[in-house]
Amino acid sequence: MPAPDHAFVDSLRGLLDDRAILTGADAIGHTTDPRGVSATDDVVLVRPRDVDGVSAVVKACALAGVAIVAQGGNTGLSYGTHLPADRPSILLSVSRLNQIESVDPDRWTLTAQAGVTIQAVQEAAAAVGRKFAPDWGARGTATVGGGISTDAGGTNVVRYGNMRDNVMGLEAVVADGSVWDGRRSLRKDSSGYDLKHLFIGAEGTLGIVTSAVLKLVPATPYETSTLAAITDLDDLMPLLSLAQEHAPGALSGFELIPTFAMHRLAEVTGASVHLDAGTEFCVLIRLASSEPVDDMIAAFLSAGAGAGHIVDAIVAGTPDQETSLWHMRDEITPMTTYVEYQGLGLKLDTAVPIDQIAEFVRRISQRAAEIAPDSLCYGFGHVGDGNIHMMILPISPEAVEPWLAAKPAMEAAVDQTVFELDGTLSAEHGVGLLLKDRVGPQKQELEWDLMRSIKRALDPDDIFNPGKLIPDPEV
Ligand SMILES: Cc1cc2nc3c(=O)[nH]c(=O)nc-3n(C[C@H](O)[C@H](O)[C@H](O)COP(=O)(O)OP(=O)(O)OC[C@H]3O[C@@H](n4cnc5c(N)ncnc54)[C@H](O)[C@@H]3O)c2cc1C
Repeated sequence: MPAPDHAFVDSLRGLLDDRAILTGADAIGHTTDPRGVSATDDVVLVRPRDVDGVSAVVKACALAGVAIVAQGGNTGLSYGTHLPADRPSILLSVSRLNQIESVDPDRWTLTAQAGVTIQAVQEAAAAVGRKFAPDWGARGTATVGGGISTDAGGTNVVRYGNMRDNVMGLEAVVADGSVWDGRRSLRKDSSGYDLKHLFIGAEGTLGIVTSAVLKLVPATPYETSTLAAITDLDDLMPLLSLAQEHAPGALSGFELIPTFAMHRLAEVTGASVHLDAGTEFCVLIRLASSEPVDDMIAAFLSAGAGAGHIVDAIVAGTPDQETSLWHMRDEITPMTTYVEYQGLGLKLDTAVPIDQIAEFVRRISQRAAEIAPDSLCYGFGHVGDGNIHMMILPISPEAVEPWLAAKPAMEAAVDQTVFELDGTLSAEHGVGLLLKDRVGPQKQELEWDLMRSIKRALDPDDIFNPGKLIPDPEV
């Protein structure tokens, strides 16, 4: 992938402060994702410290025809921050746009620059007795800009929605370098197209998000979770309904946990297995409220057990136990449990309509057993959103070669199943390069054409993250 020439890089140096531009070995360390995969081996990493710097860089790149790939915390895992192979490009990191600009408890908003981490936003909201609801395992590294650009979700979506539902306004630098300040905090505004939604989920293809007004919600000082062993995947939907009915407005997490993954985590980390009732699956359910939730949990568990959906359960009795249950949930990803296969395995970011989850998990497990018999296949994650992350990994070192041979057929089977069930291949990590050539059939061609028109209108010279997200027409 061609780096821009030295004269251009020197011209950028003239626009920014001394710390802004990194090249060669200095840059590589900043481009490596949590799996150890690097965006490139030859990169010009540009880190403006304010929106004027971003604007100056975009103007210079637009004039020179240099592509711009935005980078937040680099936790997206869909290769959305990889540089294009066929044209000069820079990686524009928002890591130094790291200020919380204001916290407004009376408006129930917080304004943060794009490079602020999700955890920092959560902490600033908590400091004024409010809560920023989106939450996921990479909270300490993932950024406001990246979360917006992938429309990230996480474990609270069942109650509070994803990033799209939690962004009230934003600021972005557009293709000619102009700064569009759309940081409104209006709860209602019917004065035309709501342009912020174009940038949410755009994966950096329409502009660089530099700051955003985020929605705050009431704090939930009482949070209690239960880990319940279920008989069968068919218990999921009745249990979700029971949780909504017995804890109206308080359900804030409903996650599928495979029992064997808890055992594996215990093996790898020395942690204890929280619950083993001999069933294949558990669910981790959190109730959160301004009032104690113990009665609601008890009523839910009693109804679930009475109806035969719950075999056994534990309830977190202390804040430490609560933290430990959700730590286990964060850590059951292959990044901890199957670190040796993470570069090889398939990690699906699929979502289906929630009543199709059980069918989806069964079909994928069955197809994996047929196509790649020596694979380990399991699903975990966000039942409340229909977003189950299924993992398909080689079962042993000897299985790697046949597994790799079977991988294309497995991917085709996954795509077919997702499309048949009216699902999506990307629910929260983004399409990036990983899924770009596969997502086409999941939408009508007209829908992709409309997206291409929007891309051409906002970025006529295709300088922002070219080649990502929108499939090529022929594909
Ligand atoms: C352990 C782990 C657990 C995770 N769990 C979840 C989960 O539960 N839910 C979930 O939603 N995601 C999850 N993710 C995925 C990831 O954290 C999200 O996709 C997150 O939103 C990415 O943010 P980031 O700052 O790392 O963005 P990056 O990875 O740096 O970028 C992602 C995309 O956004 C673009 N981009 C980044 N910043 C900007 C900007 N300022 N302006 C324009 N474009 C930009 C990039 O070009 C790229 O296309 C997880 C990841 C890990 C590693």
